[in-house]
Amino acid sequence: MAKDLNAINELHWLIDMVQTIEVGLVVLDREYNIQLWNGFMENHSGVSPNDIKGTNLFERFPDLPASWLKQKMESVFLLKNRAFISWEQRPYVFKFKNYRPITGRAEFMFQNVTLLPLASLTGQISHISIIIYDVTDIAINKLQLKSANERLEHLSQTDGLTQLHNRRHWQFCMQREFDRHTRYGEPASLVMFDIDHFKRINDSLGHIAGDRVIQHLSHILSQNLRETDCAGRYGGEEFAVVLSHTSAEDARSFAERLRTQIESSRFSFNGQPVPFTISLGICDLSDEVENSDQWLANADQALYQAKVSGRNCVSIFSD
Ligand code: GH3
Ligand code: MG
Ligand code: MG
Repeated sequence: MAKDLNAINELHWLIDMVQTIEVGLVVLDREYNIQLWNGFMENHSGVSPNDIKGTNLFERFPDLPASWLKQKMESVFLLKNRAFISWEQRPYVFKFKNYRPITGRAEFMFQNVTLLPLASLTGQISHISIIIYDVTDIAINKLQLKSANERLEHLSQTDGLTQLHNRRHWQFCMQREFDRHTRYGEPASLVMFDIDHFKRINDSLGHIAGDRVIQHLSHILSQNLRETDCAGRYGGEEFAVVLSHTSAEDARSFAERLRTQIESSRFSFNGQPVPFTISLGICDLSDEVENSDQWLANADQALYQAKVSGRNCVSIFSD
């Protein structure tokens, strides 16, 4: 008698716990009819157990990814194995609003879900349990960390004044392009350029004006780039662009276009026109270029040629 009472008590406690635990618990029969719907599910869906018991899950929640979820559940029935659905794979299964104060930024509750086969006394899998964990805090932390890391990575690769690649990252891209050429023989060209008589702009109008000129130039440069081109600020007023899949002659067209656009652009500072020009040097990748340092040195040599040829012009490297 006391044993029976104990068992009844235990059952009572269990039901109490199932009702109040901060985890979603649902039991479905073989036809996906809802047999159990605990307090967590009631609180977040607004549907009470009495109202939902015996009804079909997918009819009650048409928003559920039905065919995908059924496929998962069928394999649980069939293989008698549990299955897991992580928030990283699918942010949520049940679309519940997120009410957590700390992670209020998330609109919906991120969920980890376990599908558990439930065996009857005869050992058959007649039911399945869906267990839903609210992992919004963990998910938001992880997503914030990821986006902070992405921002940091971007910052570490970007030149602050121009938003072009900084020298270190640009050199990394250039080396990668050189390696691609070594491995696959892909053509590529390197264009280096430098603002003509930039010191005069600084000296006559001040460094702020000089900075604005650099930004103005970078803007024009950016507008002339393709997705696969890699442009960087190499030094103070020196820039470098790797043009992939580009011969020296095509690079010359690019360089000429840039040169004329800059020459004819109407830049002014404090209402005063500031005309300026650039000189450019090009070196394309041929078998004679032995490493990326040499590639860079050749383009620099061509740039020097353009300077001594009178500036505001393009020069291609040749031995
Ligand atoms: P050239 O035609 O031979 O290139 O003459 P230049 O006057 O442009 O060449 P030089 O290398 O002598 O001068 C470059 C100047 O650029 C010197 C330096 O003070 C200035 N400079 C370098 N970086 C910056 C920068 O970020 N902002 C500003 N305003 N000036 C810079
Ligand atoms: Mg210079
Ligand atoms: Mg210069």
